[in-house]
Amino acid sequence: DQSLAELDPEIAAVLEGELGRQRDTLEMIASENFVPRAVLQAQGSVLTNKYAEGYPGKRYYGGCEQVDIAENLAIDRAKALFGAEYANVQPHSGATANAAVLHALATPGDTILGLSLAHGGHLTHGMKINFSGKLYNVAAYGVDPETYRVDMDAVREAALEHKPKVIIAGWSAYPRQLDFAAFREIADEVGAYLWTDMAHFAGLVAAGLHPSPVPHSDVVSTTVHKTLGGPRSGLILARDAEAFGKKLNSAVFPGQQGGPLMHVIAAKAVALKVAAGEEFKARQERTIAGAQILAERLTGSDVAGAGVSVLTGGTDVHLTLVDLRESALDGQQAEDLLHTAGITVNRNAVPFDPRPPRVTSGLRIGTPALASRGFGETEFREVADIIATVLAAGQGADIEAATARVKALTDGFPLYPGLQQ
Ligand code: PLP
Repeated sequence: DQSLAELDPEIAAVLEGELGRQRDTLEMIASENFVPRAVLQAQGSVLTNKYAEGYPGKRYYGGCEQVDIAENLAIDRAKALFGAEYANVQPHSGATANAAVLHALATPGDTILGLSLAHGGHLTHGMKINFSGKLYNVAAYGVDPETYRVDMDAVREAALEHKPKVIIAGWSAYPRQLDFAAFREIADEVGAYLWTDMAHFAGLVAAGLHPSPVPHSDVVSTTVHKTLGGPRSGLILARDAEAFGKKLNSAVFPGQQGGPLMHVIAAKAVALKVAAGEEFKARQERTIAGAQILAERLTGSDVAGAGVSVLTGGTDVHLTLVDLRESALDGQQAEDLLHTAGITVNRNAVPFDPRPPRVTSGLRIGTPALASRGFGETEFREVADIIATVLAAGQGADIEAATARVKALTDGFPLYPGLQQ
């Protein structure tokens, strides 16, 4: 029985190289995080060997007594954490969770109404070549061209015009909180279901630092790996188990998936336990504080002088959206420049972006991973100053100096100390 290094040195080298990359750079992709070591352990376990089609107590395979315990723990913890009557922890990812939600709430050909992809929505909310855009008739609302915020009057107008079966609240790139009660009112007015995709901000909701969509929505979906800080996967919640439980269960299995990934479900249970703790709350507080420090520094006069600003002038969440439309740098160049200094971010279209999606005029910068690494206000101030200095200087930036400052930060906060891959 060989170790990975013995059996497959090429893949072993990838794991080692990736651990080194994560340790030595500042990870600021808003949808990423560092999972606790206990999550790595659960996910890299013998549970990967087990088939368990069905649900706890109602499986289509024998030998499920141990995995049933894991799945029930994950379900109970998800329900308790978010105050939901119903939870399904089987979705392999956010996208499959969303496919199951639409499968349960709508029939192909029905109209769905979500935030436009170009204004921060997700692929699964109706992008043309995604399943959602192919199966459903897609209508979209956008952000207001003056405020860059979702304007609920515009959402209402779109809902009255298109009479959707499902209204989608939720986003992949938006720096503010949504008004779930207003979404509910609109859904009731037009007789639509309200589905909230809280993938990005679920960790903030769990910590009580962001309004919860659960009491207002018919169904809530999320990924587990973003602010929530767990394994790469999804889950679905509903406030009313009787109205939606059966439909959602059968939409996930057998509607969308076969056997659940029991090692990932066990890792989800661990992450949900962590998310119920005080330390998690403090981490989410540092996450938001870090994003606010970053947004504030990126509105400084040196940065403004270089044509760089942040959308909506600030943030309420774990990310800030940098607007480069007036800058000499485009999104691709800014992403590359920060990458050379050891800072990983992703370019992102801003609403009304004049540049193509492969280039863009924006950056999405998030703080969850660094907060998990232990960063607090002092470190986020330094991070913000490094990024602002580089973006203000553009192609003439002193990358050597920025790299040295990044190294001081990563050296000060070792990631997974002692871990070997
Ligand atoms: N929903 C939202 C709002 C997202 O931002 C994402 C991921 O980027 C997803 C769903 C999809 O998650 P996954 O990448 O796990 O399929």
